[in-house]
Amino acid sequence: MRCSLSKPLEHGRKKDKVMNTGTGRQWKGRAMTSIDDMSIPDIEAILGSVAHYAATQTRNYGERDPIDRPSELLFRCTCGGKVDVKYEIPPAEAMRLLSRPLNTADGRAFFVKCGGCGRLGAPSLREWRAVVDWNYMSASSRNGSFDGFPFFNLVGMSTEDGVARLKTIKYDLALRRAHAKKRKASGIDVGGRFLAKIDAYLGWAHVGLRVAEGAGPRKGEMRS
Ligand SMILES: [Zn+2]
Repeated sequence: MRCSLSKPLEHGRKKDKVMNTGTGRQWKGRAMTSIDDMSIPDIEAILGSVAHYAATQTRNYGERDPIDRPSELLFRCTCGGKVDVKYEIPPAEAMRLLSRPLNTADGRAFFVKCGGCGRLGAPSLREWRAVVDWNYMSASSRNGSFDGFPFFNLVGMSTEDGVARLKTIKYDLALRRAHAKKRKASGIDVGGRFLAKIDAYLGWAHVGLRVAEGAGPRKGEMRS
């Protein structure tokens, strides 16, 4: 089953220049102020436009569901060690990675721990988010390669082509996320799982861009 999103949707950005994923990790990225400030009809006009359709390389994100069995998608630690997802009360050191407290009933949360060096990822109530977060901060362990990257059909692409694809996907997702969130805020049921999938795909787009950074300077940027 293909895992592209069939419904319209986003990526909420405040007016600062980082993307707060809600876990305390902040992905550097362009301010999404312009999207946040758009009305629902404005966003729909872009999403329905021929230009946007042509500019968006794909909405076929691959076979996997990013919410389902996310621990299978963990990157190795930058130390080379094997990592696991825990579901227990996170150590204080992990909690310090969060910018706001977790709203958890019994104190337990998902977080990633390296069995080699003991490094911890940021805790989350969502396993997929703990995994995405860990992968973002461990992206350099991929040595700039898209080999085995589970989404967006990047395997075999050059860094340059992969980055170009990821940027168009990220923008499309940001629009669709804003659309869904604004509809939700106006009382329309857009589906929690749908929103979570958009967030997860958006997180993975950021992970992909981070992986690409490990590939070093791209062609054209090298000094001659
Ligand atoms: Zn480690």
